[in-house]
Amino acid sequence: MKRHPILTVEDVSKTYDGFRAISKLHFYLFEGELRTVIGPNGAGKSTFFDLISGRAKPDIGKLEFGDADLTKLNEWQINRLGIGRKFQTPSVFAEHTVRDNLLLSLKGARGVWAALFHRLDSTQRDRIDELLKLIRLDDKRHWKAGQLSHGEKQWLEIGMLLATEPRLLLVDEPAAGMTDEETHRTGELLLSLAGRHSLIVVEHDMTFVRQIARDGQVTVLHQGTVLCEGRFDDIQANEKVREVYLGR
Ligand code: ADP
Ligand code: MG
Repeated sequence: MKRHPILTVEDVSKTYDGFRAISKLHFYLFEGELRTVIGPNGAGKSTFFDLISGRAKPDIGKLEFGDADLTKLNEWQINRLGIGRKFQTPSVFAEHTVRDNLLLSLKGARGVWAALFHRLDSTQRDRIDELLKLIRLDDKRHWKAGQLSHGEKQWLEIGMLLATEPRLLLVDEPAAGMTDEETHRTGELLLSLAGRHSLIVVEHDMTFVRQIARDGQVTVLHQGTVLCEGRFDDIQANEKVREVYLGR
């Protein structure tokens, strides 16, 4: 059976004041895949996420999620389709507990008040418990989010994103500012999400990239377009990549 991509990007370009941030980009992601995207500063990685999430619109090109034409939808509509984005800096509700942060994000939670008064059915309660375990904050469910470490806040935000049941997660530099231990745990978390969700993860830390790429595909962006794609070891050995990315 031929697999169809969940995300199709064909010949997409995006210009800012005459500067091509994204240039004739082609990219295909399959359902349940975890794709790692690397590339030097200014390569267009965040702009790529802006285009998928609807924050920016391409000048030209095809951008489809399943059957949906993303170029015709706004940011909110794209989010409703099941595309969730995690920005670099975590934004959690500092004065609320870890559990309430998840509650507030839960798909189907009927508004903030219902959520905070814990009017949940058993399915929702189970999902919260499952998420707390997944992000390893089960022990800290009653902590205020503001008391968490930087790494824990990042995990909570990933949990909040998962609570919306996204089909595709866009994760921008999740390991930034984390300790080695936290970075490794973040890798395990993301790997555990693949299959149930599709993910695109942008990252700089090569130890982390190696961990999450495993046998999967890595895409190297350079000057707004795909320089090459392949397995981590092949990417690392690629002369073009070494030139532009490692500066050799
Ligand atoms: P990366 O995330 O790979 O470091 P970005 O996608 O942030 O790169 O940026 C790619 C290029 O596009 C940069 O040169 C940046 O200055 C430019 N760019 C991105 N967004 C905008 C914007 N909103 N306005 C003007 N230029 C932008
Ligand atoms: Mg960026």
